[in-house]
Amino acid sequence: MRCFVVMVMVLATMTACGADETAVAEPDRGTIGIAMPTTTSIRWVGDGKSMAQQFQLLGYKTDMQYAEDVIDDQISQIKGMISNGVKALVVGAIDGTALKAVLADAANAKIPVISYDRLIRDTPNITYYATFDNFKVGVLQGNTIVKALNLKGTEGTDNIELFAGSPDDNNATFFFNGAMSVLKPYLDSGRLKVPSGETSFKEVATMRWDNALAKKRMQRLLAGPLKGIKLNAVLAPNDGVARAVLEACQEAGYKKPPVITGQDAELDSVKLIAAGEQTETVYKDTRELAKVAVQMTNSLLLDQPVPVNDDKTYDNGVKVVPTFLLQPVNVDRANYERVLVEGGFYTADQLAG
Ligand code: BGC
Repeated sequence: MRCFVVMVMVLATMTACGADETAVAEPDRGTIGIAMPTTTSIRWVGDGKSMAQQFQLLGYKTDMQYAEDVIDDQISQIKGMISNGVKALVVGAIDGTALKAVLADAANAKIPVISYDRLIRDTPNITYYATFDNFKVGVLQGNTIVKALNLKGTEGTDNIELFAGSPDDNNATFFFNGAMSVLKPYLDSGRLKVPSGETSFKEVATMRWDNALAKKRMQRLLAGPLKGIKLNAVLAPNDGVARAVLEACQEAGYKKPPVITGQDAELDSVKLIAAGEQTETVYKDTRELAKVAVQMTNSLLLDQPVPVNDDKTYDNGVKVVPTFLLQPVNVDRANYERVLVEGGFYTADQLAG
């Protein structure tokens, strides 16, 4: 009903102003295909919304689809976008190694592809890559653990368990390697100990970033190698995994949660940070990432210079992909209000609610 009223008002205004004669035609620059991995990690919803808004402001239409972590669905969504004649594709891949064939189709149709947040591997057919400094995300997580456990220059042994992201997500290795670059000296010296003995990426990875899987693994550790042992810290690669691990610890009777890292500044985790339950998160302003991807696409289509600031880090197995890297920001109890509320990412009401 409200919609109808608004429509009537708009139509009345248009007629009164003679809008039919004077309306300036919107530029029609064609459609951009946006293929996103999932809505279960809430950040991707924000990424998608920001991109769609910004493309629309520049006169593009968007065809945005989420594949809910089903690789075949993502492939058929991209196929559909190609046959509908999109001007360009922006792809946040589920499995970075599974898109080779469909991106060959895009290349045949002369459709440029921007790899979004996650590097698409094993194909020459990506033009640019927009992401955050993923190694640094891990370094920030590692630094949080060092600081919170006061590891520098102190003696004793603190117990830690390690979790990583999905093995088919190129970012996950960067996050893990970044964190381990900070933690390894303490593991080597015995200042940090991993009671489960599971320390390789393969052993600690979480397929598809599945929170339920992470929780199960934590439950297994708590009931096994951690039985009777106090766990001091957990390296968690993102907020979803952090909350799953915290739940398992709580259910196992932990009154005071271990020091725990995260990533994405998801609202639920920021609330836990405010409550002193999650130690930190790594904030990546996805509005900025969306802006970069939209600018890249637009410049590419208008044959203008494309902004990049890194041309050596991201080798996808076939070529080094020119990249624009944004900086992640460490967020904890001391700065979350300043960074996230004053920075306009959340309102104070959202955090209070
Ligand atoms: C992203 C993270 C996200 C994770 C799970 C990674 O590729 O960089 O921000 O938490 O995927 O969706």
